[in-house]
Amino acid sequence: PQNSQNGPELDGNQLVAKSLSRLGVTHMFGVVGIPVTSVATRAVSLGIRFIAFHNEQSAGYAASAFGYLTGRPGVLLTVSAPGCVHGLAGLSNGMANTWPIVMISGSCDQKDAGRGDFQELDQIEAVKPFSKLSVKARDIKEIPDCVAKVLERAVSGRPGGCYLDLPTDVLHQTISESEAEKFLTAAAEEQSQLQKLSSGIGNVVSSDVERAVSLLGEAHRPLIVFGKGAAYARAEDELKKLVETTGIPFLPTPMGKGLLPDTHDLAATAARSLAIGKCDVAIVVGARLNWLLHFGEPPKWSKDVKFILVDIDKEEIDLRKPELGLVGDAKKVLEMINKEIKDDPFCLGKSHPWVEAISTKARENVSKMEAQLVKDVVPFNFTTPMRIIKDAILGVGSPAPIVVSEGANTMDVGRAVLVQTEPRTRLDAGTWGTMGVGLGYCIAAAVASPDRLVVAVEGDSGFGFSAIEVETLVRYQLPVVVIVFNNGGVYGGDRRSPDEITGPHKDDPAPTSFVPGAGYHILIEAFGGKGYLVGTPEELKSALAESFAARKPAVINVIIDPYAGSESGRMQHKN
Ligand code: ADP
Repeated sequence: PQNSQNGPELDGNQLVAKSLSRLGVTHMFGVVGIPVTSVATRAVSLGIRFIAFHNEQSAGYAASAFGYLTGRPGVLLTVSAPGCVHGLAGLSNGMANTWPIVMISGSCDQKDAGRGDFQELDQIEAVKPFSKLSVKARDIKEIPDCVAKVLERAVSGRPGGCYLDLPTDVLHQTISESEAEKFLTAAAEEQSQLQKLSSGIGNVVSSDVERAVSLLGEAHRPLIVFGKGAAYARAEDELKKLVETTGIPFLPTPMGKGLLPDTHDLAATAARSLAIGKCDVAIVVGARLNWLLHFGEPPKWSKDVKFILVDIDKEEIDLRKPELGLVGDAKKVLEMINKEIKDDPFCLGKSHPWVEAISTKARENVSKMEAQLVKDVVPFNFTTPMRIIKDAILGVGSPAPIVVSEGANTMDVGRAVLVQTEPRTRLDAGTWGTMGVGLGYCIAAAVASPDRLVVAVEGDSGFGFSAIEVETLVRYQLPVVVIVFNNGGVYGGDRRSPDEITGPHKDDPAPTSFVPGAGYHILIEAFGGKGYLVGTPEELKSALAESFAARKPAVINVIIDPYAGSESGRMQHKN
């Protein structure tokens, strides 16, 4: 619009788009509708790639994974109330994984709030448990500053979720271009100030670094553990140097896999129980001592183990009460540790009893697993197709595909069998064990790393949460191959004992069951993608070869014996 006195005018939608673009946002994920459609179209016209989803939940998962893979906040755009509520899935999952995500939602007219306006909700209140910072732009002039604040806060300190609320009336307000420019410039300045402040985060003192090195040096059975926080920090070179100068065995968490190759001589992955059960000093980098690491407690860990924790978050270290805590960015802290070691080198060497014990155990376990894997079991169990998929993924070479994994047995078996050789090439159900993340993660991975193939290996139940997003894959022609382990249900076939099959609805399918032999491959064909139905090793190999070479959206529907695997995978004790 043109204002006769002050020159051209912008509305709130345009100013949001301009602010995002000016402050470095390159991608957005979301679902458009009242009142934010124009935010998306304006953003696109400014060069931002907007990936439009069917459901905010998947879009939110995508935004959080984009944040993890790029180190920049993933931006999720949603409509008011119901859109915002669906988006909470992504926002909260981002928080749980400590990944940076910014959710931006339209909201109802400020003057009608509290009177039952269209899609009314106190969204600031609703997002509170799931965000580090939530702000509402109450006037168009506040937009650039609010955008700068949420983008910066999402990545500063421990990464996480932030929320920006955009009332309908603010999106419709106008402002002159020259005035908007003033606010945009001020916001860009604020952003660079905040960035300067947060780049110094961490207060590692050199005496603590010396102490860490002497604890490791004096240990009889030291171990290096690292997780997705170290992957987020891009600490792979520093970890490699630490492992190789000290000769200390290492253990990645599931998403830490690939920071150093699983095939490395010092990888303790295949000797996990021994490594954590017997180590006397463990340096844990960017990984929480939560359920995934058995809280760092007996019986899995020795009661006398001394932990050195490296984490960006002081509260995390205070919570765990380790022998020594180093608060700071993993890459920077490891650099300091490596420097300290260089002055006083030590290396355990291959013949060190601890290193030998780990590598012997790892070799034993690997050969046991290989013995299981060589057998072709048809109808498929989980291991036979997983071995074939592992070989196909390794066959791609570098840059290695990004593997997305979810499901109970499918994810458990996949974690053990699939080999990760490059950093940040594994996305899985994560800290919350969230199912339904697969398609969103695939889409994020494909747009964040356009040079990589993306391969999802997921159970039919995980796939089903957001299966319609295969249309999104086709619409954007993303190089994603989704392999569905189809065993006809959550955990697979009907596993109820006869005494559980009673009552007036006993003839209904079991709560765990889906339609047997569902044609998931046909779903993607409805949109013009490629589908494969496979039940034998030859069929699977051929589908993988063709779809990996084509680098086009595909679904491979792998029919699995419904009674293979176990209920709840390896988490049976909790169900
Ligand atoms: P995993 O699931 O791989 O065990 P977690 O999500 O439990 O990993 O832990 C990741 C940890 O990494 C979190 O405690 C988080 O605060 C921390 N973290 C995030 N970014 C960094 C960083 N740049 N440097 C160090 N630690 C980080």
